[in-house]
Amino acid sequence: MNVSVVLFTADLRVHDHPPLRAALDGSRHVVPLFVRDPAVDGAGFAAPNRLAFLADCLHDLDAALRRRGGRLVVRSGDPVEQVCQVAREADADEVHLAADVSRFAHHREERLRRALAADGRRLHVHDTVTTAVAPGTLTPSSSDHFAVFTPYFRQWSRQGLRAPLGAPRTVRVPDGVVSGELPSRPPAADLSAALAAGGETEGRRRLAAWLRSGVAAYEERHDDLAGDATSRLSPHLHFGTLSPVELVHRARGAGGPGAEAFVRQLAWRDFHRQVLAARPAAASADYRTKHDRWRSERSAREDVEAWRRGRTGYPIIDAAMRQLLHEGWMHNRGRLLTASFLTKTLYVDWRVGARHFLRYLVDGDLANNQLNWQWMAGTGTDTRPNRVLNPVTQAKRYDPDGTFVRRWVPELSGLDGPAVHEPWKLQGAARAALDYPDPVVELSDGLARFKRARDRG
Ligand code: FAD
Repeated sequence: MNVSVVLFTADLRVHDHPPLRAALDGSRHVVPLFVRDPAVDGAGFAAPNRLAFLADCLHDLDAALRRRGGRLVVRSGDPVEQVCQVAREADADEVHLAADVSRFAHHREERLRRALAADGRRLHVHDTVTTAVAPGTLTPSSSDHFAVFTPYFRQWSRQGLRAPLGAPRTVRVPDGVVSGELPSRPPAADLSAALAAGGETEGRRRLAAWLRSGVAAYEERHDDLAGDATSRLSPHLHFGTLSPVELVHRARGAGGPGAEAFVRQLAWRDFHRQVLAARPAAASADYRTKHDRWRSERSAREDVEAWRRGRTGYPIIDAAMRQLLHEGWMHNRGRLLTASFLTKTLYVDWRVGARHFLRYLVDGDLANNQLNWQWMAGTGTDTRPNRVLNPVTQAKRYDPDGTFVRRWVPELSGLDGPAVHEPWKLQGAARAALDYPDPVVELSDGLARFKRARDRG
């Protein structure tokens, strides 16, 4: 066979890339292709933070391919039409693509398969490119997917993984295939000020540093908000600049309780993906409804706005929400607390929060975001759906001396130690001197005040 096309989507790397390897093994020439799809932008996924990270990834991928004698071909438009057109121009026999889990991805894959077949070409879809274990590989006896993490994880841990693939030495791209411009970053004014840089080179650098000096302490330190001791590899996993299969292998190679705890988090990622693959509607509908009558964005407008801006009067919530705006990323403990606060304390629809997160998160990811929101809202896979995280108790546990709050809420930087978590306890002039709001809701009324009011009708 002479020519294959590799359609890159959420797998923007050259290391451990089964579609690229299969194309190179089967063909003399390969067209590495990325299609910028306006429909994805139109559906609200083109958040500036992620577009900036994506631009970094595409430039880095192009550079990696050029070092190997090739280049990245970039097109814009409907991916099915664009792939078919490139395949025709290059006279390619086959197209290789990584499997993905959303309804959109399934639909794209089916349309592509049909359109290519009509042209006499074949589509090859590769598993274990964007997950370590492919969705649907592990199933309980009574369902097409696991709805509870613990039994999933037991099977996941026993599942053998394929060996990671090295990066190719040479990539030969046929002459005459025209490429559009590589996209550039949106203007800095539209981006979070401390947004991380993207690209496989940066991802591999971070991974090496993490395995060298971060992962060993992960088990004890992953919940320490101020310590910031998690890997921050999430955007690299989202854009596929790092391979989950390679990550699991390398973490297991590092060994120890920190690496084990880290691998468990990678299994959570696969877990949510197998849920979304089996129940694509869970991207917007309750996975397991409790018939909540949430407050809508409109009816809770002021509370939602205070939550978004980090002005709820609960310092730990405000600190985490401001981290999101400033970095386009938030610590997992912060995500749990702010999601609990919005859904369980303010009783606002989880979709309102999920939308705001997707607008800013550089790792904003349909499976991980929507299903973690549902987990916290009690409509997802949590086996204790009524759990509520108290922002003061949790603040004292996970930010015991208040360093995280003082870092993000400068209005409170004059308060020492854990007193920073309860500024409403200050008296008289000291309280009046603070330019910091009173709590939007009294916790002493009971955490689910709005829900109780609703339930009373
Ligand atoms: P680490 O602690 O170093 O973990 C390593 C990797 O494991 C992460 O990069 C991630 O890929 C995976 N992981 C960790 N925790 C989870 C989890 N709970 N569920 C699934 N995978 C996990 N993660 C996203 O990647 N994108 C999102 O849009 C997203 N939205 C979230 C929304 C809410 C409300 C909550 C509670 C969590 C969300 N998460 C999301 C999961 C988690 O918070 C992030 O993956 C993690 O904070 C990223 O930081 P890290 O890379 O340093 O994680």
